[in-house]
Amino acid sequence: MSGTAAGDCDVAIVGGGLVGASLVLALAPLGLRVALIEAAAPPQGAPSWDERCIAINDGSRRIFEPLGVWPALQAAATPITATHISERGRFGVARFTAQDAGLEALGYNIPIRHLGQTLWQAAQRTAARLIAPARLTALDLGSDAATLTLDDGTLLRARLVVAADGAQSAVRRLLAIDASSDDYRQSAIVTAVRPARPHRGVAYERFTEGGPIAVLPKPDDACSLVWTVPGERVDTMLAWSDAEFLAQAQETFGERLGVFRELGRRTAYPLTRVMSAQLTAPRVLFAGNAAQSLHPVAAQGFNLGLRDVAAVAEVLTTASDPGAPATLAEYARRRAADRERTAGFTDRLVRTFSNRVPGLRGLRHLGLLALDLTPPLKDAVMRQNLGYGATASIDS
Ligand SMILES: Cc1cc2nc3c(=O)[nH]c(=O)nc-3n(C[C@H](O)[C@H](O)[C@H](O)COP(=O)(O)OP(=O)(O)OC[C@H]3O[C@@H](n4cnc5c(N)ncnc54)[C@H](O)[C@@H]3O)c2cc1C
Repeated sequence: MSGTAAGDCDVAIVGGGLVGASLVLALAPLGLRVALIEAAAPPQGAPSWDERCIAINDGSRRIFEPLGVWPALQAAATPITATHISERGRFGVARFTAQDAGLEALGYNIPIRHLGQTLWQAAQRTAARLIAPARLTALDLGSDAATLTLDDGTLLRARLVVAADGAQSAVRRLLAIDASSDDYRQSAIVTAVRPARPHRGVAYERFTEGGPIAVLPKPDDACSLVWTVPGERVDTMLAWSDAEFLAQAQETFGERLGVFRELGRRTAYPLTRVMSAQLTAPRVLFAGNAAQSLHPVAAQGFNLGLRDVAAVAEVLTTASDPGAPATLAEYARRRAADRERTAGFTDRLVRTFSNRVPGLRGLRHLGLLALDLTPPLKDAVMRQNLGYGATASIDS
């Protein structure tokens, strides 16, 4: 093998998106030698740092607090004090409030750019080696360590490799690990609007024939708008004038917040669910979107990825060898149920409310009103949304 040896480390994290950067912080107190390899030159280049806002739940806040970044995140976060879920053309609304949950907020809406920058800057203050821009191009697995080859020929040996390199994971491709991929044939158009009435911290989700439209609170009474639409309509909708887009969004969302006035820049994200067939391989584990990439309808993707991060830190706290088979098996064991439940919950929500995807009728059949009035079911959905790991079932 040719190349320049860059030395050994205990844990090499491939990917410095939200999950990889969070993991650097979570591992910092453990005294491990950590290296992080990120393909983009941060902060401007990383794909994670776009114009979106990310809704994080109370469970994620509890993970961020001991990592020391919560005050900086909170400075740009808008508290979500209630959620309001409705379906166009049907009776009933499901409401969840922070007061019901005994919390100050159900979650927080945070600009992803702020989240990315805060995490990266905090990672720079740790002892971890941040290698960026650098791309993993080859990976050889040995019994004691893995050898990573970077695009400039650098070689790095690590006792554990954490793949946090996103839905199209290079680690997964290099190891020829399968992933199931379900194209929802939908895209999310993300933008911002300023409605005439104050949002009062309420996050709205309205299910419609074409797909859900979500309006979430931002500072200065602006809102982020995430509109899931059939894939074949995206180009037309992106080409609409601002006035046409605002009028159509208003028609779809209704008048709850009054007239939509200003509109931000529109960006579209094609939506595919990708589930890695394995959570581990010898000396390797998968976290965040590299393990599972979900539809954004329930705002669960990053929240779930952050719980992967917490589990990695927990299993490494007591492990004498971070990449030992028993350590990897313990990680997979801890993540299996939450992953299955959260991915299943999200997928059922998409299919339940989509006329385009054949599937379940759960909430529709039950009615949102019934969800609002049925305490055990409501509690289960609430716990799932808060990130506390409930046994939420929307189809029973
Ligand atoms: C429209 C939309 C809205 C969303 N809203 C929410 C929400 O409200 N709440 C929520 O919880 N989740 C939400 N999500 C999901 C959330 O964005 C993702 O779960 C999260 O960003 C995944 O982070 P990650 O770090 O795992 O992956 P990524 O963000 O994909 O990061 C992977 C990183 O790996 C790097 N990389 C890739 N290949 C290599 C290589 N070969 N070598 C080195 N580096 C490499 C990339 O440059 C990148 O920085 C949303 C998603 C979408 C599309």
